[in-house]
Amino acid sequence: MNIQVESRTDEVTCHTCGRTAADAGERLGWCRQRDRRGESWLCTDCTRSEIRAIEVGFDAS
Ligand SMILES: [Zn+2]
Repeated sequence: MNIQVESRTDEVTCHTCGRTAADAGERLGWCRQRDRRGESWLCTDCTRSEIRAIEVGFDAS
């Protein structure tokens, strides 16, 4: 018998740096984004730097 547990869907990869979070606990603080291509994830570090970039972007534009 070959039972495959669908646990792969729990693993997410950071859209920016490629870091992976294997479980929900590690994924806490990650930011999920939705665009035309579907779902993408940002890890905590990238979320932080992205927020900073957005704040800086407001001044630049
Ligand atoms: Zn990242």
